[in-house]
Amino acid sequence: MSRIQLLSEEVASQVAAGEVVERPASVVKELVENSLDAGARRIEVMMRRGGISLIRVVDDGCGMDRDDALLCLERHATSKIRTGADLAAIRTLGFRGEALPSIASVSRFRLSTRERGAVAGTEILITGGKIESVCDGGDAPGTQIEVRSLFFNLPARRKFLRTENTEASHVEHQLQMQALGHPEVGFVLRTDDRTVFQLPPAAHLRDRIRDLNSAALVEELLEVPETEILGLKIHGFIGKPGVSRSSRAQQVVFVNGRAVENTTLNYGLREGYHTALMKGQFPVTFLFIEMDPAAVDVNVHPAKREVRFRDPSAVREALVEAVTRALESDRAGWSRAFVAPGADLPKAPAAAGETPASAAPEPLPLPGMAAFQAPRQSLVPSAVTPFERPHLSAPLPGNLPPALRSPDAIAPAPMLPVPMGPVSQDAPPSQRFRLLGVLGRLYVVMENANGLVLVDQHAAHERILFEELRRRMEDAGVPSQRLLMPLTLQLGPRDSDWVAQNLETLQKMGIGMEGFGAGTWKLDSIPQFVQAEEPQQLLHDMIDELREVSSQSSKLRLGEDVIAKTVCRHAVKAHDTLREPELVRLIDDLLQCDLPYCCPHGRPTMIQISYAELEKKFGRKV
Ligand code: ADP
Ligand code: MG
Repeated sequence: MSRIQLLSEEVASQVAAGEVVERPASVVKELVENSLDAGARRIEVMMRRGGISLIRVVDDGCGMDRDDALLCLERHATSKIRTGADLAAIRTLGFRGEALPSIASVSRFRLSTRERGAVAGTEILITGGKIESVCDGGDAPGTQIEVRSLFFNLPARRKFLRTENTEASHVEHQLQMQALGHPEVGFVLRTDDRTVFQLPPAAHLRDRIRDLNSAALVEELLEVPETEILGLKIHGFIGKPGVSRSSRAQQVVFVNGRAVENTTLNYGLREGYHTALMKGQFPVTFLFIEMDPAAVDVNVHPAKREVRFRDPSAVREALVEAVTRALESDRAGWSRAFVAPGADLPKAPAAAGETPASAAPEPLPLPGMAAFQAPRQSLVPSAVTPFERPHLSAPLPGNLPPALRSPDAIAPAPMLPVPMGPVSQDAPPSQRFRLLGVLGRLYVVMENANGLVLVDQHAAHERILFEELRRRMEDAGVPSQRLLMPLTLQLGPRDSDWVAQNLETLQKMGIGMEGFGAGTWKLDSIPQFVQAEEPQQLLHDMIDELREVSSQSSKLRLGEDVIAKTVCRHAVKAHDTLREPELVRLIDDLLQCDLPYCCPHGRPTMIQISYAELEKKFGRKV
């Protein structure tokens, strides 16, 4: 007997099921995708015991006639593509024609479907891939699929399932993703004894995000209005600068309606956020990318989770651009929040019968104005003398609450009552705040129209230095210092190749190198702002880091990481005592930054505690 045999249809389906059906959540994914492809407006999912004992998906989509209902259970039967050419431009979520037969081969399966206007529907029962019965069905138009006893005939597979709770949470997550991707469709998820969520069709993505999460999350987001960049349409929501998570759980990107995982997208988001994201953290995104279906290959993975882009760099660039624009638009939003146009600052909501403790006195000229209205002096460390640190012992103003009046609370930092008169729009940004003092020689305490504002002086200075250096680099490159003794380096073939390809960029970053062939290089200058005891090590570190960035990002961004790293060392230290004009200039300079609200490492520079929050804390309002 020959050793090779064709597998029976049943076994072949089980093999395919191994790829498509991993767990209850993958069944839900496939079935809901089918419902969406069928034009459903409402999809109801019910699961029992984490979906292991039952999954039922009911939709009000187009339904199927008897012939199609039978055919859809055959392997490679699909209504979604016909020719190989169609495969090159998939517009539907499904196309492989293997989900239903795969699922039916590893469960007790019931399909009940009916076209709109049809006299009767069709009901088909299948056990482990074998058709048991086909008869007329009386369910409402649309399609119902029940999947019971998943993997009942594949005990080995069943053992891989986790606890019911874990499986249930995967199902829930899966359906949440589908619901985010299709806000216009109503979704319900039920378990035996409760409704997990019930989402009405939403007019706007924002409503769907709120319904699925919370209003508080929506507050943390910025809208990315629909923009067309490099042929891609992008829209959605992303976290404000400084908003991040420790995992990718809330980093959701849909490409042509499909939630996908893709490293190009990950890099694009990271790069777009860049310094607005803490290291090791991930952004929060609900982004939709619509693109020519021919430019994206979804036929990469049986579960269709991954995609391949024809032009990954264009996708990445478009994403970076969209994210950057949105983050920078936030700057305008915040500034607006900080200004009360034409209003006297501050305007605390006066409680009945009380005068706000800090009613604005007569406008007074700001002390030391001339000093900080002078043309903006560069804050690049190599160019400036560090801030002076005299000890200013201004008396504490009498109108502060007793807690703040305690010298221990604030000493020895200066308290600076900078009276705030009527504010004109072209006044320096700091005038929108009243500077109150410095807490613990680190936090600049201010008030504005909305309440209390705290600024981390070190983080603020980092942001200012960072943008200053970046501007310089964009204009003329980073100034470099010549090494007294040029160094000879031997680089491995890949490092050497990378350096050869990026000499110009390195030059812009202040690194001067010259090649002598066979991996030998001479290093004769390094960036001025770097105090490297061991330039060699510095170079190796930089190559390592930059190579990681450069393969994924534009040349210009290449230097930013290095700058971000170095500014930290040069920024004013947390506990340096700054004089008032310096503080005022710090705030002015900060507010003129592109991304004032986080330091180059993505930590916040400025925190607003609103009157509403204070009132809540003091129990004035619930
Ligand atoms: P694919 O989705 O890749 O085409 P499936 O095995 O998931 O393959 O489904 C096979 C076919 O069955 C689909 O192409 C579609 O025509 C039909 N079908 C599946 N589910 C539904 C549904 N809920 N409503 C209407 N038609 C459906
Ligand atoms: Mg399908």
